[in-house]
Amino acid sequence: MAKARLTPPRPPASLKAATPFWREKTLEALSPEEWESLCDGCGRCCLLKLEDEDSGEIHYTDIGCTLLDAGTCRCRDYPRRQRKVPDCVRLTPEAVRALPWLPPTCGYRLVRDGRDLPWWHPLVSGTRRTVHEAGISVRGKVSGTEEEFETDELPDRIVDWPGQDPDSKDPESKDPQGGA
Ligand code: SF4
Ligand code: SF4
Repeated sequence: MAKARLTPPRPPASLKAATPFWREKTLEALSPEEWESLCDGCGRCCLLKLEDEDSGEIHYTDIGCTLLDAGTCRCRDYPRRQRKVPDCVRLTPEAVRALPWLPPTCGYRLVRDGRDLPWWHPLVSGTRRTVHEAGISVRGKVSGTEEEFETDELPDRIVDWPGQDPDSKDPESKDPQGGA
């Protein structure tokens, strides 16, 4: 009897799972809506950062930008942020590739580095709550806004956690360049 080689039926194209856009597109190829949705709303990049004048190393503090809402972890005036806070960095694909201090959990940095988004990212979980539930956001960790501290108090506010990824087993998830 002739052997029959069974070939599994192929699902119709309409039933194939679509590849999420962040896995198949480069930062440059994202639509404006896709670009905005990559932000997980953690608020880590809105923490005040200090630069070591000798080494150039960037250190995160637990002090929020004047416009950071420490409860929602969102900017209080996103559309006019750069008029109100001139040194607020506007993220572009070029900036994401150049900035050394983006947190290791940042959606832009993950896509930049060819990595997938984690379970708690709103694009994966379907809800903005998970970025808080997973302990990624700055909620409950901000000591105040920059107006509330004198310059000589700032070094005492340096913290490690914005440069760390609690999901990572890799001790190198502590970013040596920034977010320390
Ligand atoms: S660190 Fe990245 S993901 Fe988090 S708020 Fe800033 S831009 Fe968005
Ligand atoms: S102005 Fe808004 S977006 Fe810019 S750092 Fe401050 S809180 Fe964040």
